[in-house]
Amino acid sequence: MSETSNLSRGQHLAWPFFELRHQELVAELDPWAARRVAHAHGGDTDATCRGLVRALGEDGWLRYAVAGLEHGGLTDTIDTRAVCLIRETLAYHDGLADFSFAMQGLGSGAISLFGTGEQRARYLPRVAAGQAIAAFALSEPEAGSDVAAMACAATEDGSHYVLNGSKTWISNGGIADFYVVFVRTGEAPGARGITALVVDADTPGLEIAERIDVIAPHPLARLRFDGCRVPVSQRLGEPGQGFKVAMATLDVFRTSVAAAALGFARRALDEALARATSRRMFGQTLADFQLTQAKLAEMATGVDAAALLTYRAAWMRDGGARITKEAAMAKMTATETAQRVIDAAVQMFGGQGVVSGETVERLYREIRALRIYEGATEVQQLIIARELLRAAGAA
Ligand SMILES: Cc1cc2nc3c(=O)[nH]c(=O)nc-3n(C[C@H](O)[C@H](O)[C@H](O)COP(=O)(O)OP(=O)(O)OC[C@H]3O[C@@H](n4cnc5c(N)ncnc54)[C@H](O)[C@@H]3O)c2cc1C
Repeated sequence: MSETSNLSRGQHLAWPFFELRHQELVAELDPWAARRVAHAHGGDTDATCRGLVRALGEDGWLRYAVAGLEHGGLTDTIDTRAVCLIRETLAYHDGLADFSFAMQGLGSGAISLFGTGEQRARYLPRVAAGQAIAAFALSEPEAGSDVAAMACAATEDGSHYVLNGSKTWISNGGIADFYVVFVRTGEAPGARGITALVVDADTPGLEIAERIDVIAPHPLARLRFDGCRVPVSQRLGEPGQGFKVAMATLDVFRTSVAAAALGFARRALDEALARATSRRMFGQTLADFQLTQAKLAEMATGVDAAALLTYRAAWMRDGGARITKEAAMAKMTATETAQRVIDAAVQMFGGQGVVSGETVERLYREIRALRIYEGATEVQQLIIARELLRAAGAA
């Protein structure tokens, strides 16, 4: 592994979406990631992720994941372009490092956006320092894409909410210090009857019902709430506003999923270029064949198109725009493109491409879930179409 990758030489940093601080950020992070996190995988995924959160916190990178100068953040509002560049860079080097960074942001995002001063002071500095691990608990066994169908319920009992039900596919489940949990409180039917609460991991009545193994392992669990009492003071935002809290948090981080996909795709393209120019067959290199050149051209063009959509969305959000459509376009395009680019890289590696531990084999496993979580591709298509039709109707 070299000290720096193509990222720090990446011409895309000269695009007008970025400012000098963004270029400096990548110039510093890229060699750091090559040294500190590349191939950080080991047998114990929990321990690896705890170590990565600590390292990212100690060296200041998690300060980008939270908002608020007085609570450990680098800025008062999240710098979306910085978050995206960090995810792209970390994903280029190591999927778990990207995961650890992203979950600190997603898991604490609702606190950054909607927390009271007291809630922000209690959680955000520890998240930014890598001393507390965050998680975001929205999905349920019967409510994934259809979030508003959630059933995990909370009833008020004096100064507490009492939670009963379950959440599943919860990243960092089992190692998190706290969970931002979305529960049905019933102020109104559907999406208007949901409330967001911060639940500390050691709260009686919250248990890890099941750990879930996936193709690219990371801490993942099903949570069970059984008469779990959470002080009303742990509520984020107003009762019944939880759906809004969840969607606003996802709006920031959905664009960053596209950036992570971009990091995986860029790495696959670099691996493919190295392989194609060195592998000899039929008296020449693989790269000498026009069939290979056509594939490389498609891969590189897809990567640039995904990058343009990703950083357009991030730049627009940093400018204060509503980016529902643009974030969906970026997430859909970058994740689907990355899957195709990585598959093409595996193909160029031949048999070596499917050997466990080979970089392209790891990327092939890493990319798959990104087309499903934080809104599957089909959900992004519906969001884009809804926005288009709304605009057409309003015209
Ligand atoms: C690795 C991983 C990590 C995750 N981490 C978290 C987390 O930290 N917190 C959290 O709350 N959740 C998390 N999730 C859950 C994730 O957000 C859900 O898996 C996702 O929203 C899809 O829900 P589902 O699995 O129930 O699939 P379903 O809702 O059953 O959807 C199945 C498939 O149906 C298709 N589909 C969906 N809607 C439509 C439609 N309208 N029309 C046509 N086709 C459609 C899509 O292809 C979709 O993949 C994670 C998931 C994974 C895999």
